Amino acid sequence: MSYVDEVLELVKKKNASEPEFIQAVTEVLNSLRPVVEANEELYKKNAILERITEPDRQLMFRVPWVDDKGQVQVNRGFRVQFNNAIGPYKGGLRLHPSVNLGIIKFLGFEQIFKNSLTSLPIGGGKGGSDFDPKGKSDREIMAFCQSFMTELSKYIGADVDVPAGDIGTGAREIGFMFGQYKRIKGTFEGVLTGKGLTYGGSLARTEATGYGLLYLTQELMKCHGESIEGKTVVVSGAGNVAIYATQKAQQMGAKVVTCSDSTGWIYDAEGIDVALLKEVKEVKRARLTEYAAARPSAEYHEGRGVWQIKCDIALPCATQNELLIEDAKQLVANGCKCVCEGANMPTTIDATEYLQQNGVWFVGGKAANAGGVATSALEMSQNSERLSWSFEEVDAKLQNIMVNIYHNIDDAAKRYGMEGNYVAGANIAGFEKVVNAMLAQGVC
Ligand code: NDP
Repeated sequence: MSYVDEVLELVKKKNASEPEFIQAVTEVLNSLRPVVEANEELYKKNAILERITEPDRQLMFRVPWVDDKGQVQVNRGFRVQFNNAIGPYKGGLRLHPSVNLGIIKFLGFEQIFKNSLTSLPIGGGKGGSDFDPKGKSDREIMAFCQSFMTELSKYIGADVDVPAGDIGTGAREIGFMFGQYKRIKGTFEGVLTGKGLTYGGSLARTEATGYGLLYLTQELMKCHGESIEGKTVVVSGAGNVAIYATQKAQQMGAKVVTCSDSTGWIYDAEGIDVALLKEVKEVKRARLTEYAAARPSAEYHEGRGVWQIKCDIALPCATQNELLIEDAKQLVANGCKCVCEGANMPTTIDATEYLQQNGVWFVGGKAANAGGVATSALEMSQNSERLSWSFEEVDAKLQNIMVNIYHNIDDAAKRYGMEGNYVAGANIAGFEKVVNAMLAQGVC
C-alpha cells in the first residue's frame, strides 16, 4: 500500500464521524501523490502526512449568553489551530447552525495550503460556532460575541493566532469580539482581521475575496487567450464573496445573471444590480425575494438552481458542496469554459473531476479565494507598522498576489506533468512550502 493510501486509511479511521474533513484530506492527498512518491522515504520517516493531517490542537468550548427574553442560551465554540509551520495560525470564524468540529477541521486543513499559496507568513486555523446570527438583535449578537471571545481570548494573540470573518461573521461581529479581547487583555493589538477602518482595519479587505477571485480568473482567461469582457457569468451566494465578485466581474465587462441564498435564487437577464443586492443583503439583511420585488427583470426561484443557467464562467461563492455532479454536467452541456471557486470546497470531488475531464478550466477555492486571507495578512502588516495603506495600494498588492498565485499553481502542475490541473497545482505549491518549513523545524 502506498504511503498516501496508508495515511488516508488512518485519517478515515481516526475521524470517522467527520465526512467533510475526510473529503478535504482525500482530495488534497490524492492530488499530492506525485510529490509524495518523489520524496516517499523522507516524508514517511518524518511522518509528514500524519503530522499535517493532525491539528496542533482543537479547542471546543461552551458559549453561554442571555437572549432578549432573559433566557440563557448555550452554543458550542470551536477553534482548530492546525499548523503554524510558516506563521501564526490564521483563518476565519464561521457562525452558522451547521458548524461542527468536522467542518471546522476541514476548513482549517484547507487553510494551511491556501495561506501558504499567498506567499505571506501565515499558518492555518479556523474556528466558529453553531450560533445562528439570523434574526438576532444587535444586543444578542454582542452578548454571544463577548461570551465567545471571553473563552477564545485565552488561546489567540497577534503572534499566536489571528482569527477573521467568515460566513456569519462580518464587521459587526469582529468589532464586538475585538472590543471584548481588548477589555480582557488590556492591549490594543492586531489580534483579529476584518476590523473596522477606524480601529486598524484594512481598506479593500471587504472587497478582497471577491475581487481577488476575479483577478485570478482574469489571469487564467488571459493565459488561455480569452478575456472576461463580454462573458456571461453565473454566481451563487449573495454574501460578502458573491457581492464583490459580481461587482468586479461587471467592472471587467462581464454580465453576471444570477445570485442565490440559503432559500432561493435569482435569474436577472439584465445583469445583477449590485447596489440593490447590497441594500437587500448588507443593509436590510433580507431574503432575495426583496431583490426580485424591486427589480422587474429578475425572476426568483425557490431552492437551488443557478447552475442550470447558460454561462461562460461559473463562480460558486456560497458554501461547501453546493455544486454537485448533475450541476457539473449541466454546466458542461451549456458550454461553460471556466469554474473558479469563491467559496471553500463548493464543488464535490466527482463534480470537480467531471469538469476537469471535460476540459473546463477549474481553479479550487484554495487558490481562487485566497485574496481574502492575503488581504488579512496585509492588515496584520499594517497593524504591526501602525500604518494604514490606501485602497489603491492594497488593491494593487492583492492583484499582484492573485496573478502570482495563478502562475505558481500553473507551474507546480506543469512540474509534475499535470498541466492544466490547477487543483493539484495549488495543493502541491502550498504543500511544498509548508513541508520544507516542517522539515527544517524538526519533530514538532
Ligand atoms: P456570507 O455569510 O457573507 O454569505 C454566504 C452566502 O451563502 C449567503 O448568501 C448565504 O445565504 C449563502 N449560504 C450559506 N449557507 C448556505 C447553504 N447551506 N445553502 C445555500 N446557501 C448558503 O459568507 P461569505 O460570502 O463570507 O463566504 C462564502 C464562502 O466563501 C464560504 O465558503 C467561506 O468560507 C468562503 N470564503 C470567504 C472569505 C471571505 O473573505 N469572506 C474568504 C475565503 C473564503 P443567506 O443569505 O440565506 O445566509
